[in-house]
Amino acid sequence: MNKLHFEKMTPEARKKFKDEYFSRPEYIDGKVPFEYKHTFSSGEVLEAFQDEEGIGHVIIQRDGKTIFDFSKFLPPDFLLVTPKYFQKFPKKKQLFDSIGEWEANFNRRLIFLGDFKSLKDILSLLHEIGHMENNTPEDTEDRRRLLVGSPDDDFSVLPRAVSSEKKLAKLHSKIEREAWAWAIFAIRKAERDTGIKLSEIFPKFSDLKKYINDCLGGYRRSHEWIIKEGHDEDFYKAMEKLFDRWKYSSAVENKKAA
Ligand SMILES: [Zn+2]
Repeated sequence: MNKLHFEKMTPEARKKFKDEYFSRPEYIDGKVPFEYKHTFSSGEVLEAFQDEEGIGHVIIQRDGKTIFDFSKFLPPDFLLVTPKYFQKFPKKKQLFDSIGEWEANFNRRLIFLGDFKSLKDILSLLHEIGHMENNTPEDTEDRRRLLVGSPDDDFSVLPRAVSSEKKLAKLHSKIEREAWAWAIFAIRKAERDTGIKLSEIFPKFSDLKKYINDCLGGYRRSHEWIIKEGHDEDFYKAMEKLFDRWKYSSAVENKKAA
């Protein structure tokens, strides 16, 4: 058997990743609101909050006046929705909705808002808007089809065929990168419009790159079963190109696999 190549992630690293990129259960349950506040060194305040209907808002204020509203990047018929929105309007809930995690749904004109826990989450929001603005309808539909199956299917097709999983990996790489590129463009636009240094979020560009790479790495891991289950042991080469430049192989994993 050839040596298997995939990332060795310690339980601590896995937990750290989960804590950073996923929402707290109490937020998903609607016990903790969509709420965050940050004061920039120049005095302006970024505020994330939800209204009575559970619609989320993310704005920047200067001297108590709103000078920037992040929802302006969206077409007017789109909604930013929190878990509270689905408590208020339970009929809007659909099977497979990942309520309380960051996700864009083009067909339903919704952006599911995740847990706004740190200033970095402004990037999570812009990333989801980036999916709306940047991904082609064809890519979006292909992804839905690969994830859920045929249009008449109500159930997620798991396990997927290896060939479908490979297509999905390629598509994820494309649409995720497009959405991140757009998020960075939007950050720069917001900086120009407000004069605020939003780069306070990531003072070093290398930190921003790491944040994005970590996120892409999460997608890569979700496709890694192709390698782990021995369907295609060489698929790590494609995945390295698609998602990040992390080295998969580690002495420990290779010893175990040998
Ligand atoms: Zn994404």
